Amino acid sequence: MPWLKNARQDQGKRPTATHVITLGVGGGPSWYEEGELAGIGTAIVVGGHTYLVDVGDRVPEQYKRANPNRHDAYAEFSTLAGVFLTHLHSDHIIDYFKLFNYGWWVGLSQVSEPVVVRGPGRRETVTRPHDPTQAPEPFNPENPMPGTVDLTESVFAAYATDINDRQRDNGFPELRALLDVQDIVIPGATVEWESMKTMPTMDPFTVHEDDRVKVTAIAVNHFPIYPAFAYRFDTDDGSIVISGDTGPSPNLITLAKGADVLLHEVIDNAWIDTVYKDREGVAQHLREAHTSTSLLGGIAEEAGVNTLVLHHLVPANPPLERFLTARNGFSGNFHIAADLDVIPLRRP
Ligand SMILES: [Zn+2]
Ligand SMILES: [Zn+2]
Repeated sequence: MPWLKNARQDQGKRPTATHVITLGVGGGPSWYEEGELAGIGTAIVVGGHTYLVDVGDRVPEQYKRANPNRHDAYAEFSTLAGVFLTHLHSDHIIDYFKLFNYGWWVGLSQVSEPVVVRGPGRRETVTRPHDPTQAPEPFNPENPMPGTVDLTESVFAAYATDINDRQRDNGFPELRALLDVQDIVIPGATVEWESMKTMPTMDPFTVHEDDRVKVTAIAVNHFPIYPAFAYRFDTDDGSIVISGDTGPSPNLITLAKGADVLLHEVIDNAWIDTVYKDREGVAQHLREAHTSTSLLGGIAEEAGVNTLVLHHLVPANPPLERFLTARNGFSGNFHIAADLDVIPLRRP
């Protein structure tokens, strides 16, 4: 798409209207080769403020790299307004604490309001075993499936030595007070939903609203992870939907109806068959809980979105042409994202 820029070449010339920056587009808890894709994380910039969706491997560094204020240590992270976690798989949260702790040094203390953090809540039931005859005891049985608030409190507590040192000796403002963290409550959800492969159909529900953006969410199918959310950001300039990790999901189509930009995860099934041919548990999860290239075009067409952008690429190594068939059946704009692509909401 000729109207697409890359943030590396774009310092200081960023559109002032709402835009998306694909900070990292690699999917899965993997290190790829040096110089290849960063982990999953997306910036939505509205009115000069940034809302991040997921904080995978190296996403804070990518955010810093993409930031037009990157040479002003007091301003860089001062426009961070929100962090939305789709689900609590490690590839979506591995650099969550680093974002705040290192961000503390480069402007996070200057935020005008606490950074809104929203994500899945704590589960009551632990993931069912793939093979009940070989099920290990749950790890951390007193809270085996912590939510976003739990995650935040425990990781901040683990770093108390550093936090107390900075606050008491270096005079930093209270780090924890810079965040407003809440678990998302799904309207009408019951404990039975925790073990369902397909989420009941539902209407999108609001998880955050301010004078720049309204953020709605819906539960998608990423079994046995529960909950997993897709998010929609409605702004004055248009709407952006991020699928999170999901298999084909009618709820995602509901959420994405008529959106300007849909960023959707994708997996190459031929790769699963090759790499995981002897590990059926992993292979089955990958096939069911992600969306294969052959289905993407139909999903985007049914949702009626203007632009389909593939990210959370699995695998995240070349050749990325493996994902090209995802455009089949889709009549809108199509793009396979690279790290740090800048996507304006409307064609200039
Ligand atoms: Zn993932
Ligand atoms: Zn996942």
